[in-house]
Amino acid sequence: MNRFIPYGKHSVSSEDLKEVNDVLSSDWIISGPKVAEFEDAVAKYCGVKYGIAVSSGTAALDIAIQALNLPAGSEIITTPFTFIATINSILFNNLTPILVDILPDTYNIDPQSIRKKITANTRAILYVNYAGQPCDIKNIQQIAREHNLFLIEDSAQALGAEYNGRKIGGFADLTILSFHPVKHITTGEGGMVITNDKYFNEKLKILRNHGINKEARERLGPNADWSYDITSLARNYRITDFQAALGLSQLKKLEYFLKRRREIAQKYDQELQNCSNIVTPVVRSEVQSAWHLYPILIQNYDRNLLFRKMREKGIGVNVHHIPPYHFTYHQRFGWKAEDYPVTESVFRRTLTLSIYPSLTEEEQDYIIQTIKEILK
Ligand SMILES: *Cc1c(COP(=O)(O)O)cnc(C)c1O
Repeated sequence: MNRFIPYGKHSVSSEDLKEVNDVLSSDWIISGPKVAEFEDAVAKYCGVKYGIAVSSGTAALDIAIQALNLPAGSEIITTPFTFIATINSILFNNLTPILVDILPDTYNIDPQSIRKKITANTRAILYVNYAGQPCDIKNIQQIAREHNLFLIEDSAQALGAEYNGRKIGGFADLTILSFHPVKHITTGEGGMVITNDKYFNEKLKILRNHGINKEARERLGPNADWSYDITSLARNYRITDFQAALGLSQLKKLEYFLKRRREIAQKYDQELQNCSNIVTPVVRSEVQSAWHLYPILIQNYDRNLLFRKMREKGIGVNVHHIPPYHFTYHQRFGWKAEDYPVTESVFRRTLTLSIYPSLTEEEQDYIIQTIKEILK
């Protein structure tokens, strides 16, 4: 096999392209009806009232935190085992990220560790559903109630996941999604905040559009007024209508995409769980993972050596995620690896295997056979 198999990949079909084309040939290519239609469809899928579509998952995180309107010096508790955008979104808002360690089975944030880090300045918990698996949400909600904290859910990796039989979306005050090509559905770049809260919906629609208090469509036509007000300092985080058309078309295939991801995960489980050098991922009984990643732990074998050998064979294994205390920029915050022993130990041993809807059976067999051969 001389092709390179990536760890994640989008699936865009000719039906998707037709939808994009139709919008590009219409009068509204930004801030038009497709964006609203996409927002309603995603919100409905997740069982929530509102969606605010934006230009990326990172933009969604940024305005979700801005919408909380927290006073300077506020602390937000989050996990170090995430993509850096989670932590940066707190920093963009000039607030303080407080990192707490993860659980050794799911690699999700540890509720007990959250409790220990709560101070008089704690205002929110930003939890991440790592690899597509929802966190211990009931316990996190309980902590938020006791201490009157906002909850933000980073579900960039978990669209379609379930917790206690309910789709993710309505568990936190604000939930964010990403439509990056490796995620469950794509709009190229793109993201969304979803919420049941009317105030947040209105606020976020302003925050994605320069702080302008009227939508573009309200300012068009014979009876509209030219005036508008700026009610917040904000950026342009809008998404286009042709991206929304792509997202809508992709959403129709989400259940199929999730099914394919589950099948691939099940096959890895079956084939690899008896391999003594590999710990396969643990999924708790109260959740359905959306399987964004398939992370394994390597034991009694050098992870980096395995990584190189797999890459040499054309297999795009990867490492998710590098904790922030390993980055040059983030050194200034004084976070130390020894304060996050579980995160650090998982980070040093983890490897993510390819998982995406168009991964063929033959490709997956090749991945499984190659890893077994190397570890033999
Ligand atoms: C992908 C991802 C993001 C960022 O999403 P973008 O759309 O790439 O900006 C944020 N958080 C997590 C956990 C992610 O996996």
